[in-house]
Amino acid sequence: LPRAGTHRLTDADVAARMRPPGGDDDKYTQGVVGVVAGSSAYPGAAVLCTGAALRARPGLVRYAGTAAAGVRAAWPEVIVTEGRPGDAGRVQAWVVGPGMGTDDDARSVLAEVLATDLPVLVDADALTMAAQDPDLVRTRSAPTVLTPHDREFARFGTEVGSDRVGAARRLAADLGAVVLLKGDATVVAAPGGTAYVNGTGTPWLATAGTGDVLSGITGALLATGLPADEAAAVGAHVHGRAGRLAAEEGPLIAGDLVRSLPATLARLR
Ligand code: AMP
Ligand code: MG
Repeated sequence: LPRAGTHRLTDADVAARMRPPGGDDDKYTQGVVGVVAGSSAYPGAAVLCTGAALRARPGLVRYAGTAAAGVRAAWPEVIVTEGRPGDAGRVQAWVVGPGMGTDDDARSVLAEVLATDLPVLVDADALTMAAQDPDLVRTRSAPTVLTPHDREFARFGTEVGSDRVGAARRLAADLGAVVLLKGDATVVAAPGGTAYVNGTGTPWLATAGTGDVLSGITGALLATGLPADEAAAVGAHVHGRAGRLAAEEGPLIAGDLVRSLPATLARLR
């Protein structure tokens, strides 16, 4: 395996990759991210993921899925369709998975998203389904980012073990995808061997819904045109910083991460 170095991003590295809009920008040049998440059983995943995407400041967030009512009620800024991803309108990157379920409809929606030539972030239920049919990922030509925690990682066939960077690199090389392996130190590995280690987080992130927030942030960064490995590393960095900032106020819930994103981004220099 290629052993390009293992990198750590600084706040300045991250700030340089999140440039503010200029006079020539409009909402489309700022990035359009599509989110497929949530279900009648888990509407909250859709609300957290779309909210995080909005607060990671792309130009526009679109939502396609079966938790449309909840998303509409929470975020008037999101353009919502109850139809298929293909009915959502033009997007520049997709996030697919949190709380979407794994039934036949979900499988078909996942296949539709992965068949696009757009960057796709695959999380949660979509990881479970992709692990059962990894060629859905291998055959893609556009970038894919997978965001497993250890149990989701193991569904692809091997346990993470003690060498987290090595494990993420191997899965990335096998699938031709960027692997963002979540944990107390989050590892990002690209198919070519480049790896990042992120230590900005806090154990207070070990609570429900924080992964859905990471997906939304990182998907928005993909839509701004960042290379997939950088989007993943920057997403993990910002998510961890938002966790630390929120935790200053006391024990956090995932929605606090979304609320702390503007101040988190303002502090990056
Ligand atoms: P998920 O398991 O999908 O809900 O995602 C959980 C999120 O919380 C990921 O971003 C993890 O990296 C983060 N997280 C979970 N446990 C810890 C921990 N002990 N220390 C730091 N971050 C954590
Ligand atoms: Mg999760």
